Amino acid sequence: MRVVIIGAGFGGIAAAIELRKHGFDDLTILESAPELGGTWYYNTYPGAACDVPSHFYSYSFAQRRDWTRLCSPQPEILDYLRGVVADHGLDKHIVTDRKVTSCHWDDQTCRWTVRATDSSGAESSYEAESVVLATGQLNQPAMPKLDGLDGFTGHSFHSARWDHDYDLRGKRVAVVGTGASAVQFVPEIAKEVAELRVFQRSGNWFLPRHHKMYPKWVKALIKVPGVQAVRRTMLFRYMESLTAAIRNPTTIGRFVGRRSARFMRNQLTDPEVRRKAWPDYTFGCKRVLFSSEYLPALQRENVELITEAITRVEPSGPVTEDGRTHEVDCIIYGTGFKTNDFMFPMDITGTEGRSLRDVWSGGAHAHLGLTVPGFPSMFLLYGPNTNTSGGSIIFFLERQVGYLRQALSRVRDSGAAAIDVRPEVEAASDREVQSRFAGTAWTMCDSWYRNENGRVIANWPNYMKDYGERTRTLNPDDFTLVRAPIPAGSSA
Ligand SMILES: Cc1cc2nc3c(=O)[nH]c(=O)nc-3n(C[C@H](O)[C@H](O)[C@H](O)COP(=O)(O)OP(=O)(O)OC[C@H]3O[C@@H](n4cnc5c(N)ncnc54)[C@H](O)[C@@H]3O)c2cc1C
Repeated sequence: MRVVIIGAGFGGIAAAIELRKHGFDDLTILESAPELGGTWYYNTYPGAACDVPSHFYSYSFAQRRDWTRLCSPQPEILDYLRGVVADHGLDKHIVTDRKVTSCHWDDQTCRWTVRATDSSGAESSYEAESVVLATGQLNQPAMPKLDGLDGFTGHSFHSARWDHDYDLRGKRVAVVGTGASAVQFVPEIAKEVAELRVFQRSGNWFLPRHHKMYPKWVKALIKVPGVQAVRRTMLFRYMESLTAAIRNPTTIGRFVGRRSARFMRNQLTDPEVRRKAWPDYTFGCKRVLFSSEYLPALQRENVELITEAITRVEPSGPVTEDGRTHEVDCIIYGTGFKTNDFMFPMDITGTEGRSLRDVWSGGAHAHLGLTVPGFPSMFLLYGPNTNTSGGSIIFFLERQVGYLRQALSRVRDSGAAAIDVRPEVEAASDREVQSRFAGTAWTMCDSWYRNENGRVIANWPNYMKDYGERTRTLNPDDFTLVRAPIPAGSSA
């Protein structure tokens, strides 16, 4: 069986390792970037780091005991991924500089045709019995829709494509957006720039983050047999408690929210900055951020927090609704990602030429975030409703690759051509997922977790443990096996 995996981040790499381990050797990983790493290849901004502790934000099958900090910086995570790929001999399967443009299922041959282009514009195509879309949720930088943006005469870039050739020292800089990335790079660049104006749409809830190097004794302790396992279990429980707070906003959430408020009050000694930075929504509705450096940075002499909305961009800088023009040398967009787009603009068609874009016109949905009816042997990793606000995405990815491997093993063992989730199973699981959001903090404000209809399409509504249990064993009754050839006009 030939499997094409699209994306060489944590997801695509985990899929390849799992499949190889179970005898699926004909694997091709197509990656649009010049290198593997996904998130950790692209996000090189100053201060870039994970915010889930590294002893848990790493594969269970490739644990490291020598992380330098609680939450490792980007170069360390990228090095880790490169090491995992080398250890598993995966380099030969990865084809970089291949941007996949389409995946088409053929009902007659029961195969996928995957088309890609490279940076010179040359096209290539790949045939496979299965495709794995490991394109991530936080991959395509989002730019704000602002009049005059292109007419700005200074320098500008998005935080996920940091321009390291541009020297920020002594410059007047605007940062648009105050999400998870900005919160990491603002304290770093505030030390260097002449003036920093931070444009905020809404404030964040914060919890502390200890970002110091591990002392030698901690590193030594982690090497003691058994300690690492205990540590991972403790971290798992700690993160599940954050989910408990989000799921129960009026009880546990209120308690954790008070802890966050106490921490923030202590950090925000300037009453004016405190007033501006304070979030106006329920704790946990948007991503809770971990930083002990960001709020103090906002109170530096050279930093101004601006909460008036930007109405347009003039050649000299952003203009806010109060009529002020903020003249700057550089604008950095910390405006996050096109999270609702998933793998689009890729063109994907399944049985009877059905387009995934049409199937998802009301918002993305998939059984356990993994499979969509009418798209046989196509699997999504980090798909709809598998993001987490209180957990590690790697935990989810590992469960997903175990599940898809079980699905493909069924195809192989049964001699079928492909496997397709039953429409009624997918519809029921989607209804259940959506119903589980009722009463949770996620529904209490607008956030990138929801689409324009208010449907939460990014997040899993429950605990990691629950997702792990549901994906542990694939239920064969949830699927139909597709036998080739399918006569034209009928479905599987
Ligand atoms: C700054 C930052 C910090 C984060 N910190 C954490 C954290 O602490 N904990 C946590 O759990 N999660 C964190 N995340 C989320 C993170 O995205 C996931 O943890 C994880 O890295 C996702 O891996 P992935 O392989 O699914 O996707 P990605 O890492 O996004 O990889 C997707 C890959 O697919 C490729 N691709 C996309 N489209 C195409 C195409 N058409 N053709 C070919 N290739 C394509 C991309 O180039 C990319 O390499 C963070 C995200 C960001 C941006």
